[in-house]
Amino acid sequence: MSDDTSMKAKPFGPIPAGYEAQHGQLVIGGLTAEELATKAGDTPVFVYSRAHLTARVAALRAAMPDRLAIHYAMKGNPFPPLLTFMNDLVDGFDLASGGEMALALAAGVAADRMSFAGPGKRDRELEAAITQGVTINLESEGEAARAISIADRLGIRPKLAVRVNPSFDLKGSGMKMGGGAKQFGVDAERVPALVKHIIAAGADWRGFHIYAGSQALNAEAIIEMQAATLALVSELTAIIGTAPPHVNLGGGYGIPYFAGDAPLDICAVGAALGKALDSLPEDMAETEYNIELGRYLVGEAGVYLTRVVDRKVSHGETFLITDGGLHHQLAASGNFGTVIRRNYPIAIASRFDAGAEEVVSVTGCLCTPLDMLGNQVHLPRADVGDLIAIFCAGAYGASASPANFLGQGAAEEILV
Ligand SMILES: *Cc1c(COP(=O)(O)O)cnc(C)c1O
Repeated sequence: MSDDTSMKAKPFGPIPAGYEAQHGQLVIGGLTAEELATKAGDTPVFVYSRAHLTARVAALRAAMPDRLAIHYAMKGNPFPPLLTFMNDLVDGFDLASGGEMALALAAGVAADRMSFAGPGKRDRELEAAITQGVTINLESEGEAARAISIADRLGIRPKLAVRVNPSFDLKGSGMKMGGGAKQFGVDAERVPALVKHIIAAGADWRGFHIYAGSQALNAEAIIEMQAATLALVSELTAIIGTAPPHVNLGGGYGIPYFAGDAPLDICAVGAALGKALDSLPEDMAETEYNIELGRYLVGEAGVYLTRVVDRKVSHGETFLITDGGLHHQLAASGNFGTVIRRNYPIAIASRFDAGAEEVVSVTGCLCTPLDMLGNQVHLPRADVGDLIAIFCAGAYGASASPANFLGQGAAEEILV
């Protein structure tokens, strides 16, 4: 290794805990990277680890108060075998479209464990939710009116919760989804009137859904948001005069993607939330509480494996060109809501225990300069045929990337 090349290197994110080398290769679920590629039948492949999912949920439960239910926000990863596996690990599923509802039902998730949020629900989606007995998190007064009239026509008592657009947001959050004018939820000051209307209409009022943001690594920011959420719920409860049966406190727990990111301190978050729940006013003591997490539960459990198809040099820089790319990994390429592109955790999966020797850029196979998976990363030497691993691929990968771009098609996915 010469200092010349390593000096040009750009940092990449930390490889999540739990990934080890055997026979020189990255091993997941007891299979080496090459065995995983063979099992999948082709590369690229998203590999999701059952052991990782199980350990993650167990650690989270240990850190969170006992009375807090943990829901999976399936937007992060709707791969059917993963949904079925998660169904045994978590207490409920949060979905945001009729398509997700259908996937969850097909995976064996009971309708009474689902809640359905998201703006722009069509009448047929509301009808499906009411017919199945799924709780609808209403995003507006208009949606409430449509849901009530559809339920009347069907002769079914609908389960309706109100999503509140809070006046605060999650600080340091990757994507702001509360605070100010938003397409999500009903502005807090109009919520009491809507809840009274829902109750008067004879619907089964299920409570509140308050979601203020995503991808926060700072425990203090989450603790503050959860305290503000509970304060808002108690204010609303006092005005309405009836305690909510259920409160969805949102989520926003992040995972480290980039150099310098440190994992969220869930023990601090859980301890503070436990105290906050214990000191709620009497009338809110019977209420059930949950958090809804997507990427925190599944993000680090997934690895994207892609094979080197070409190795070339241009103006003194080495490029490893793979059979994958942004059509499967839009976020890792830096094109999914990121301002400045930074490198996701990356490794040569087929030489996982080798030392870094050279600085290379790892690209996908798409004919666009946006298709960058690792920009000037310091890695072991790799050649045509080697496998590259991109970590933190379990959430917002396969289903959140434009698989049909350039006629490429979807990647393989396996759960091991
Ligand atoms: C996207 C979303 C989630 C999941 O967010 P993560 O960052 O993956 O945890 C949860 N709830 C709602 C309402 C969402 O829109």
